[in-house]
Amino acid sequence: MEGKSKERKCVICSNESDGGEFCVWHRLSYERLEEMFKVWREAMEIGWKEFLEEVRKNPNTGVWVKEVISYILKKENP
Ligand SMILES: [Zn+2]
Repeated sequence: MEGKSKERKCVICSNESDGGEFCVWHRLSYERLEEMFKVWREAMEIGWKEFLEEVRKNPNTGVWVKEVISYILKKENP
């Protein structure tokens, strides 16, 4: 932990964060996205943003993951 952020709240849900910008649930969802992206990229040529939009369209994607995706897309493309 480098303590670069003093924020103790998740940027998405305002629950207590685990020291970073997300709470534990949103952080786990983010980590799962990163893992999924690695697998997808081995199977096809796809960019990060494109990947996020595909996952968001998927009806099986959980609400936590969707919230993380919305946040990332907004942050990278305001
Ligand atoms: Zn959260």
